Amino acid sequence: MAEYPLIELYIDGQWKRASGQPIINPADESVLGTVPTATKADLDDALAAAEKGFAIWRSTAPAKRAQIILKAAALIRERVDVMAAAMTLEQGKPIEQAKLEILRGCDIIEWDATEGLRLYGRVIPSEPGMRHTVLRQPIGPVAAFSPWNFPMSSPARKVAGALSAGCSIILKASEETPAGAFQLVRAFHDAGLPAGVLNLVFGNPAEISEYLIPQSRIRLVTFTGSIPVGKHLAEMAGRYMKPAIMELGGHAPVIVCDDVDPVATGAASAIGKSRNAGQVCVAPTRFFVQESIYEQFAQSFAERASQLKVGNGLDPSTQLGPLANSRRIDAMETLVADAKAKGARVLAGGQRIGNRGYFFPLTVLADLPDDARAMNEEPFGPLALVNPVKTLDEAIEKANALPFGLAAYAFTKSASNAERLAESVEVGNLSINHFVASVAETPFGGVKDSG
Ligand code: NAD
Repeated sequence: MAEYPLIELYIDGQWKRASGQPIINPADESVLGTVPTATKADLDDALAAAEKGFAIWRSTAPAKRAQIILKAAALIRERVDVMAAAMTLEQGKPIEQAKLEILRGCDIIEWDATEGLRLYGRVIPSEPGMRHTVLRQPIGPVAAFSPWNFPMSSPARKVAGALSAGCSIILKASEETPAGAFQLVRAFHDAGLPAGVLNLVFGNPAEISEYLIPQSRIRLVTFTGSIPVGKHLAEMAGRYMKPAIMELGGHAPVIVCDDVDPVATGAASAIGKSRNAGQVCVAPTRFFVQESIYEQFAQSFAERASQLKVGNGLDPSTQLGPLANSRRIDAMETLVADAKAKGARVLAGGQRIGNRGYFFPLTVLADLPDDARAMNEEPFGPLALVNPVKTLDEAIEKANALPFGLAAYAFTKSASNAERLAESVEVGNLSINHFVASVAETPFGGVKDSG
């Protein structure tokens, strides 16, 4: 039986229980537990701990740091089944996807840990008798804010990056899906990380960010989440002259050229879109398909989408779990109604399933006008928008039309098309002929409003 852990704060190497808000299972809306709310005094303790932890950690040999970080990753790999079950309970994703997320988080932790051994400086040629040396120093305590869609791998990216660089960190993880971060932190604790280096808090996100970011002890801010919140936090960080790493939303275009197999590409697109029920910043969303293969592509996409088994993520046969919260159901219903009113065709899905649990099928909409809301607002859910284009130029123009620039995908057999796309699509990551936006060893980031 899947078990959900008792969630606690983690400050200065100590676990702390507190009252707080209920954690809801999105598959049946039952209460899984309580996420503790940190008080101002807890945040002050976390700041003091992070300052103390930074002094210890920055003067720990990089090889020793890597050893502890790698040990944490090894413990997580051992615990993957238990951790995945808790993640499916709180977030809804199918259990196999939860396991993959955790293992991918381990890949990131391990890559960062060993990269921490290679933070080489430089010696710059100069006057005789003078030498200029460039050292790479850890910046200091980091305030990190992670979202609910990837409860383990998103915090893992933030924690591993900071710790591998020699920084301490206060992580404010998602209150809706706290077990991913909680179990991650527990592995670092068990691996022997010194007290104060890593601290975990929950509470009211706005109150915590407004309290932590201005503090002089915090030297860098990192946030993953929505563009409006990211802009707000980046402004606040700017006011206090702190670098901010913002990993925000996207609205990924997928350009399908007429030299590919439309049936196979349509089916692959349904699988690509279904990952984490589309609640992914790099989710493929706006499909621009060359006219001659458009109908075949759209039909194949819809057919494969309709075959996906929707259900509780703990059932190993489930391919599409519930959405993570009721806000996503509301957003899907609003965007579908607007698209239909503006003349879009519904090729698959379109309506909530049942009224207990946040189930929504993979929905394929075709022939949407440019002013349909879904074509402009990130759906962040299982919504695929399929439209025909005449030429590659038109596809590129449409792909670049929005203020987002995180991921894009393209399907083509032509090397010259691939080259053109790589040069002209305005995104951080372009994937050609597959739906893998990034792996541990590749950079991950965006342009424009995506951060
Ligand atoms: P939201 O804008 O209310 O919150 C987004 C995230 O920011 C949440 O994790 C929330 O806890 C946090 N947050 C909100 N206000 C904050 C503040 N003042 N300080 C610190 N953290 C704060 O939206 P939501 O309903 O939770 O999520 C939906 C939208 O968020 C989606 O449309 C999507 O664009 C975006 N999102 C993006 C990612 C990503 O990976 N880039 C992840 C999750 C959500």
